Amino acid sequence: MDDPKTPQSLFGPRVRLAPSPTGWFHVGNARTGLFNYLFARKNGGKFILRIEDTDKKRSNKKYEESILSGLKWLGIEWDEGPEKNGPFGPYYQSQRTEIYKKYLEQLLREGEAYYCFCSPKELEAQRADMVSRGLPPKYSGKCRDLPESIVKQNLADKKPSVIRIKMPNKVVKFRDIIRGEVEFNLDLLGDSVIAKSLNEPLYNFAVVIDDYLMKITHVIRGEDHISNTPKQIVMQELLGLPRPNYAHLPMILGPDRSKLSKRHGETSLTEYQKMGYLPEAMNNFLAFLGWHPLGDREIYTLEELIERFDLERVQKGGAVFNIKRLDWFNAQHLKLLNTDQLFDRIGEYLKNFSSNSQIIENYSPDYIKKVIELESPRLTKLSDFLEFSDFFFKEKIEYPKEYLKWKNIEEKEIVIVLNDCLSVLEKIKDKEFNRMNLQIKFYSFISEHDDYKQDKGKLLWPLRVALSGKKASPSPFEIAEILGKEESIKRVKEAIKLASS
Ligand code: GLU
Repeated sequence: MDDPKTPQSLFGPRVRLAPSPTGWFHVGNARTGLFNYLFARKNGGKFILRIEDTDKKRSNKKYEESILSGLKWLGIEWDEGPEKNGPFGPYYQSQRTEIYKKYLEQLLREGEAYYCFCSPKELEAQRADMVSRGLPPKYSGKCRDLPESIVKQNLADKKPSVIRIKMPNKVVKFRDIIRGEVEFNLDLLGDSVIAKSLNEPLYNFAVVIDDYLMKITHVIRGEDHISNTPKQIVMQELLGLPRPNYAHLPMILGPDRSKLSKRHGETSLTEYQKMGYLPEAMNNFLAFLGWHPLGDREIYTLEELIERFDLERVQKGGAVFNIKRLDWFNAQHLKLLNTDQLFDRIGEYLKNFSSNSQIIENYSPDYIKKVIELESPRLTKLSDFLEFSDFFFKEKIEYPKEYLKWKNIEEKEIVIVLNDCLSVLEKIKDKEFNRMNLQIKFYSFISEHDDYKQDKGKLLWPLRVALSGKKASPSPFEIAEILGKEESIKRVKEAIKLASS
């Protein structure tokens, strides 16, 4: 291994995302991953993915899979990590036990860490005693100076134990790139547990060793870890390791400004993919959760975000996760896609997440693209496509009879109105059956009939419902053009049957 003081910046910054696979990939972690990635790419550095799976009970492969697939979906490519390897692996903490052990043994040997044999009951009594004396509840230090012979005996007797660090009684200061000078009085902490045993290091210890050995230059992570930083700095100092730069990202909040949780809606990234958001919109939205480039522009591709990203412009205050804003970003990014691109995206989306994916096989690409062209101005999410336009892909549409009723027109009149529509449709030649002609023919029919002239909705509303089965849809002429003459006539005839039933 290289000397710890090697000037790492010669090779550009090295940053990491270090998620624990103990839950579905959280949007907050995705945001942390994105900021690390943008920083690395902007500065010609490396982005490392490290799986922090020391908690064997809670770690699960399915969660790890959601992390990897979530990052891939967003296009956040890691340079070193699972599936990629790299010079500083393994990139799974569960495979690094021997490495941590060496450093734990060093701390024990040097008297900077010690075995603690206090039982949970004893610890609780110590805490209660501290609180009753008005002191901050922390470990009493009972096992700090146990004679070596007792420690050996206890270990030989397999008495349950943990390993604690001797926390120095001092104030730790560090400069956070986002928050400026941060100070922390270690006296409040007491001797923290750093490992359950030589083979079971805990997060605060393993992270220090890994960040050092993986030559991490900048630790960019959520603000919820800021209170861990002083502990990690102490361990670096005790082991003589260099201190990385720190940047703690603002918390992501729900609309009520409390920490984002399930209570506010979905927190797992995959759910947003399933809901029909585009990865580029998600990146754009996540990037703006706590950061903003100079100027008013808001729509950026990933490449443009890389170009503009600057850690110094990350805000300190919490960032509100507003789904309406995500919808807006998504609608904007959808507008940047042309019909062919939308066709591919919608097809892929339906294949992965819809039970109606067969439409892709059952209808011609030309037909689907016409529907996409018609519906695309109204789309907010990919999932809207089928929701809005399912009637184009059904042999028989079903809807309540009342939908056909325009304002206060009599029920029996609907049949007459629909028959009028039928007569107009039937007169239009096959090759002239396009929206322009349909409009001309229907409007001239309207102009010849006084009651329609007064209220053209009386004719066009039932026609539109007959074609779409929906209360809201594009105009009947646009729909009829795509459906074609035969299908349009068939649907109006079915509506007549329904209205007369
Ligand atoms: N495993 C920690 C987490 O998932 C990583 C924290 C860090 O980045 O140091 O929150």
